[in-house]
Amino acid sequence: MAATRRRDSFSILRETMRWRVALVLGVLITVLMVALGTLNTSLGYTDTAWLAGGIFLASGACVVGLLTLPRQLGATIFFSVIGTVLVVVIPFGAMHEKPMQHWAYIFPPLLVFLLGSGRALTGMVLYGLYTCVFLVQQVAPIDVVRFASGYGLLVCFIYTYALLQERAGALLRFHSDHDALTNCLNRRTFNEAIDQLADNAGPASRCTFLLIDIDHFKAINDEHGHLVGDRIITETAAELGRILDPGVALFRYGGEEFAVILYDTGLQQGVVLAERLRAAVATADFRDVMVSVSIGVAEWNASAGRIEGAVGAADRALYDAKRQGRNRVVAHASTPSCR
Ligand code: GH3
Ligand code: MG
Ligand code: MG
Repeated sequence: MAATRRRDSFSILRETMRWRVALVLGVLITVLMVALGTLNTSLGYTDTAWLAGGIFLASGACVVGLLTLPRQLGATIFFSVIGTVLVVVIPFGAMHEKPMQHWAYIFPPLLVFLLGSGRALTGMVLYGLYTCVFLVQQVAPIDVVRFASGYGLLVCFIYTYALLQERAGALLRFHSDHDALTNCLNRRTFNEAIDQLADNAGPASRCTFLLIDIDHFKAINDEHGHLVGDRIITETAAELGRILDPGVALFRYGGEEFAVILYDTGLQQGVVLAERLRAAVATADFRDVMVSVSIGVAEWNASAGRIEGAVGAADRALYDAKRQGRNRVVAHASTPSCR
């Protein structure tokens, strides 16, 4: 049974923001190069006017790429091209006796759009040393020290910010994906997973759904109180999680309801697993409380119709299990019920 691999809303938001930043910067750089090219030409600096012209063409092409290519690819090409330009301008400045170290300050913030914080730090340090090697041939040693100090501090700030952003992003992502009581994946994540399957962007083109509902849970709340009810939900989730393979996610589908998506798995295999889950809960020790679950199972594949139909079929099977007396597994339609 395949692991859950998702392109979640957080990744999509990050990708969109990265693309927008690239587009704004791409337009800005293109316009700036027109201004710098004109200024250099009017001052008689032909070499730097040509350089501005070259960067204008490169950034203009990147803007076209950003508007036509897939967003992630377009943004990666843009940041890579501007990074390459920044690598090239340093020896260009040395060859034409025009120090270009002021452009080096753009490299660290650019790198965090391309690499994770650790690799970006390595790149920033190497680029700083590279710039110093050319600069030392052109300016007084004190000016190299001044550049290195300013650049070094910038690297410290940018790296710290990138690290913070990475950690905060991971935490935010965890909280947006997970349910606070049980630590299972939440309903939003379930919805994203089925949207991906429906869009043919999921890890498989067929799956089996398990909808799991704790039996007579309202009575548990009424008899033992809501805190005990919360404990039962948490312990039931833990019990179900113990049976599932490490790569198979358990979703908290509703209050006392859970869902499992088994990728590339048929109905019969799903029923067998559901029966193991049911038996595990029925025999687990919940201290002074008797707990059982009912499970509805239904299969979906890309050619068989809408995915919501399969989730609905699992839901109907679950209610059949309730009607048949609870603490049982029922598969949708043709498959015989267990227990
Ligand atoms: P059935 O066997 O038909 O599923 O009956 P049931 O009592 O389990 O189902 P019902 O839908 O009537 O009740 C579910 C209850 O679960 C109602 C709701 O108050 C309670 N509940 C939902 N979420 C939570 C939660 O997070 N904590 C606690 N303690 N109770 C919850
Ligand atoms: Mg319920
Ligand atoms: Mg219930």
